[in-house]
Parts: sequence; structure tokens; C-alpha cells
Amino acid sequence: MFSLHNKTALITGGASGIGLAITQTFAQAGATVHILEVNADQAQQVAEQIVAEGGKAQAHAVDVSNQAQVLETVDRIVAKGPIHILVNNAGIAHVGTVETTSEADFERIFRVNVKGVYNCLYAVIPQFKANGGGVVLNMASVAATIGLPDRFAYSMSKGAVLTMTLQVAKDYLRHNIRCNCISPARVHTPFVDGFIAKNYPGQEAEMFDKLSKTQPIGRMAKPAEIGALALYLCSDEAGFITGCDYPIDGGFTRLNN
Ligand code: NAD
Repeated sequence: MFSLHNKTALITGGASGIGLAITQTFAQAGATVHILEVNADQAQQVAEQIVAEGGKAQAHAVDVSNQAQVLETVDRIVAKGPIHILVNNAGIAHVGTVETTSEADFERIFRVNVKGVYNCLYAVIPQFKANGGGVVLNMASVAATIGLPDRFAYSMSKGAVLTMTLQVAKDYLRHNIRCNCISPARVHTPFVDGFIAKNYPGQEAEMFDKLSKTQPIGRMAKPAEIGALALYLCSDEAGFITGCDYPIDGGFTRLNN
């Protein structure tokens, strides 16, 4: 079940954390995976590891906020064969209220988290249409629907990802293109470790415990748990699902009361 044999998937930010888990899960399910990453060295290592294990993977040095780079990369991949799945996972965080978010912070978050998703959609959707369909999966966050304390720009950017998901699902319904998003609460990745190290130096263990307990289930998600949901949503078995947002949050949005 949930095979991705003969499918080609593009995964942005696919060399770390959630993206890495999606890359590995998709490769194990038989997909050819293309990792679009600013961290080119790490992406190359991940691709080589997958190939060494008998899978199919290729790394591409791409900043998703740079439209020319995205278009050129997608053209190069499509020249060898069609893309079937686009996972817009790359994202960055920022801590701050409206008062402590500078114009530069605001623009940086929106350039990667919003324009980066638009750039990949802009590059890939025309070939999905030409190829008779495709699947898009975007990485939003629980922040998109309920906000998070001190995450003004980040929460808004994820709200935009949620709206883009609905808009693309609606606009391309008749082109056999499905578009959904996943909204995790806290997932134990380098993103979270980096956040704790930067903002709470010397209190790492305490903060990890505190953040774990903000999920009613009492822990953070494992990246592989997000990878499993991504696999299902991008598989043919999820063919009736489009325009949906999937919280995967240990009860964070519904049970925190
Ligand atoms: P991570 O930092 O571990 O991995 C993100 C990857 O994206 C990195 O490899 C990084 O190099 C890459 N990247 C960053 N900017 C890029 C750019 N401009 N172009 C190409 N690649 C770029 O982060 P993660 O925790 O795995 O998060 C992945 C996604 O999940 C993000 O969109 C994040 O907002 C979202 N998310 C994470 C959590 C969490 O708790 N970890 C919760 C909700 C949503």
C-alpha cells in the first residue's frame, strides 16, 4: 500500500528534519526524489545515502525564494521526465511580536515561507497540467489557524500557505491536481533544537521538556510520523482528498483546554 513507484517527487528543504523524513519515506516507497535545498552539501549526502541503499535521489542547490533558480532547476528535471509530486516543505522561523519584527525579518520570512512556495507552484503547475495531473503538499503549521505566542511573521506566513493550498486546490480541481497541507505542532527537528539553543541558552533541557508538554499527548512529533502522513496524502490512495489541512499535533489545536 501507498507505493510511489514510477513517481517523481520534488521536496524542498528535503535534507533536514521533516523534509528529510519525507525524502527518506518517499524514496523507500519507490519514488525518484529530487531534493531542492540551500544546504547543498547536506542534500548531496542524503541523496548519496539513498542511492547507496538502492533508491533514486538527486540533490539540487536551490534557494526556493529565488524564482530564476527554481525555474531553471524544474526545467532541468522535467527535461528528463515528468514530475508527479511537489512537496513545499522548506521554511524558516522567526520569534517576535509585531513590535519586535523588523521590516527585514518580515521580508525574509515571507520571501522563503510564502514566495518560496509560490515560486515552486509557478514552476511546476504548468507541467502538471500538461502531464494530466499532479499532487501538491504544502507544509503549514498549527500557527496558521490558532497563532503561536511571539510568532507574528511566522504565523502569518503559514496562514498564507494554508490559503495558497485552498486556492490552488480550487483553481486546478478540473486539471486533476490535488493540493493539501499538513499542519504540525512541535516536531523534534534541528529547527526546534536551533530555536531552543538560540533563545534559551543554558536552559535547553528544561525548555525541551516544557515545549514537549505543550502538546497534550506529552511529547513532540517524530519527523517520521509526518513522513507517513505525507506519503499517504501524496499516494493514489488519497485520490479523493484535496483542499484539506491536516493537523498532526498531539492534540495541540483541539485538546489544549
Ligand atoms: P529544518 O530547519 O530542520 O529543515 C528545513 C530545511 O529547509 C533545511 O534543510 C534548510 O536548509 C531548508 N531551507 C531553508 N530555507 C530554504 C530555502 N530558502 N530554499 C531551500 N531550502 C531551504 O526544519 P523542520 O523543522 O524540518 O521544518 C520543515 C517545515 O515544517 C518548515 O516549513 C516549518 O515551518 C514546518 N514546521 C515545523 C515544525 C517543527 O516543530 N519542526 C512545526 C510546524 C511546521
